[in-house]
Amino acid sequence: MYAIQVSKHGGPEVLDYTEAPSPTPSEEQVLVDVITAGVNYIDTYYREGIYNAQTPFTIGLEGVGRVVSDPKGEIAEGTMVAWNNAFGSYAEQVCVDRNRMVAVPDDIDTNVAGTMLLQGMTAHYLIQGVYELDENSTCLITAGAGGVGLLATQMAKAAGATVYTVVSSDEKEQLSFEAGADQVFRYSGGLAEQVRRFNGGRGVDVVYDGVGKETFQESLEVVRPRGVVCLFGAASGPVEPVDPQVLNKHGSIFLTRPSLGAYTATDAEFQMRASTVVQMVNEGKLHFRVHDIYDLKDARQAHEDLQNRKTTGSVVLRVREA
Ligand code: NDP
Repeated sequence: MYAIQVSKHGGPEVLDYTEAPSPTPSEEQVLVDVITAGVNYIDTYYREGIYNAQTPFTIGLEGVGRVVSDPKGEIAEGTMVAWNNAFGSYAEQVCVDRNRMVAVPDDIDTNVAGTMLLQGMTAHYLIQGVYELDENSTCLITAGAGGVGLLATQMAKAAGATVYTVVSSDEKEQLSFEAGADQVFRYSGGLAEQVRRFNGGRGVDVVYDGVGKETFQESLEVVRPRGVVCLFGAASGPVEPVDPQVLNKHGSIFLTRPSLGAYTATDAEFQMRASTVVQMVNEGKLHFRVHDIYDLKDARQAHEDLQNRKTTGSVVLRVREA
């Protein structure tokens, strides 16, 4: 089969479209023919070596495809499934843990299905798990037109919250408004000050910061006393170590660095979040913008575009026809 392999850590140029042996499923897995694979920021951390994976490896975590074989004989061949945590997903075939996948209804587009779980479940735990938003809450979401950003905005609006976002261009501003943002800001000119001026000086209850290095200081400053800074990513680079005294200085604020893994710690929690996302998509309550679709062999270009802030919404690699 063909796959995207990383034999040394580095920039997008280390992604090689190459032949690799088909993987063999364990008893707890099924073998799947991949249709589309989701491209996520976390893939760039593995590629660069910020997250640990021993080289050489096939990159990618997420996708949709049809079951080819099940060692236990429980899942019928041809069943369409989606997953968010099968290492080696940028490939024609991958092994997926049987307890960490969901069946995909036929009417969900495979471009959406291949990218809906990782970002959709992340948005779900941010909005429903880290801080429970309601109609009295105000939040700020960084990278509001990104994959997670557009979904978190929709979920926060569905919870009744006032949603502010921050983006880098006019096009992204438009998309963020379309997703439901009440006000969209730009990074320049003191983000915290702009937001506070807008909401009467109060600050927000929670900031969801997936940008990291370039926004973290503004995030500390934008939350109200006893508010929550949820640092969930590092698109602009990792944040420097923090002195806990900083949390006191900003009014007894809380800082959390959550992961999807911790918020899907049990199979039951995984199934709850995954099936909620599938249901929301199926009922038209959660819209995915899959603007950027690349062939598997063009994974380098997909990573370049993602890291150069050229993409909006979800990014997909097409592996084979559905
Ligand atoms: P996005 O589609 O949001 O892409 C990243 C965006 O970050 C860019 O489009 C850009 O939007 C913004 N950005 C700001 N500064 C920079 C910079 N210097 N370089 C590159 N991008 C920058 O990606 P995802 O939706 O895949 O992921 C968003 C974040 O969420 C990532 O940090 C990711 O690691 C994190 N994440 C965390 C999870 C968790 O459980 N903790 C799970 C899933 C994702 P703009 O141009 O508008 O600034």
